[in-house]
Amino acid sequence: MLDAFEWYCEQCGRQVYREEIAVQNIVTDLPKVFERYYGTPANCTCKHCGTVMQPPVRR
Ligand SMILES: [Zn+2]
Repeated sequence: MLDAFEWYCEQCGRQVYREEIAVQNIVTDLPKVFERYYGTPANCTCKHCGTVMQPPVRR
């Protein structure tokens, strides 16, 4: 069973990144997906308009 995680560009609305993983443990697996997205410039930069997505601010 795969879960798909998708991010869309804030500027142009096109898909920036998509990853499908088999989530075993949502508490430990989810941060890894976010890390691969926000932690990898190639993944969190929109290929269509060049906008770099910023991670949500944690308080
Ligand atoms: Zn864009």
